[in-house]
Amino acid sequence: MADPVVPVRREQLRDEPVTGAKRVILAAPRGYCAGVDRAVVAVEKALEHYGAPVYVRKQIVHNVHVVSTLEQKGAIFVDEVDEVPRGSHLVFSAHGVSPAVVQGAKDRELEAIDATCPLVTKVHREATRFSRDDFHILLIGHAGHEEVEGTMGHAPERTTLVNSPDDVATLIVPETDKLVWLSQTTLSVDETMETVRLLRARFPHLQDPPSDDICYATQNRQVAVRKVAEDADLVIVVGSSNSSNSVRLVEVALEYGAKAAYRVDYASEIRQEWLDGVATVGVTSGASVPEVLVQQVLADLAFAGYRDVDQVVTAEEDLMFSLPKELRRDVSGQPDARGLGGRTRKLDWQTP
Ligand code: SF4
Repeated sequence: MADPVVPVRREQLRDEPVTGAKRVILAAPRGYCAGVDRAVVAVEKALEHYGAPVYVRKQIVHNVHVVSTLEQKGAIFVDEVDEVPRGSHLVFSAHGVSPAVVQGAKDRELEAIDATCPLVTKVHREATRFSRDDFHILLIGHAGHEEVEGTMGHAPERTTLVNSPDDVATLIVPETDKLVWLSQTTLSVDETMETVRLLRARFPHLQDPPSDDICYATQNRQVAVRKVAEDADLVIVVGSSNSSNSVRLVEVALEYGAKAAYRVDYASEIRQEWLDGVATVGVTSGASVPEVLVQQVLADLAFAGYRDVDQVVTAEEDLMFSLPKELRRDVSGQPDARGLGGRTRKLDWQTP
């Protein structure tokens, strides 16, 4: 079955005169990260190997186009495991799940395929280990986000959620010398550091996690959009409204100098009035966004006279994750070049 069509606008954008030359600055890295790529390929391989339907708990990644593409191929998205017929194949999304969800799938005798991003699994392991070692965990993240629910589920009795810097003053935390902070992987780096600074002022004995929880892809896309925002009158971020890292890119663009910044799922959502008086448009996309959607934005902007496109590259990424072990086991014999151990290379000027 064909992929869903990217919606096109009814009326093309107009090429209105502005002061200065019209151009686009395209951020790189942008779009798919290694964890999203792995999760999407996992559903595709599961459909190929086991046949439709394959069930997926929650959106496999937070992008409407990716979800509708997989739905057309035979994936069925559910909110909870009890919606899945016994014995079916069920994929856990890239955002991860709590041990209770894993147990729920076992109880229904589901064939679970765990597409949790390995960088989220790393945070789960930290939560489990700190909880076992009698720490109380301050988890910086957004209430209700699936990743946060999954991580909290690994240490439910020993975790307090910190939604924002504003929460710090009123947090109620058990009396303990063993206090550590962890975070969601897709937060704003600056805001998280501010939250940590306030937490440390209130709890001087607070310990740091062993390594960054905000993942390489989130950090790299924020660094790239900062660079683009410095010179942009307008920044367009392609990404869905429930994509934490896409929403953060809009905030970071505004913080670092863009005069305006908007998020769109599709190019057809760009409004003519956003381009009034705009010479330089910055373009980027969140970690769950296929490149085809960015190319559609560039095509629509070209109609409005923004034909010169310069790419600003702030890091190169070559990280890849191997497919979930359940798929590697069942699809053995099929070629799969995905290996572990890739690296993200930072360019010289990039901030640490
Ligand atoms: S944004 Fe980061 S944590 Fe989330 S799937 Fe991508 S690499 Fe993994």
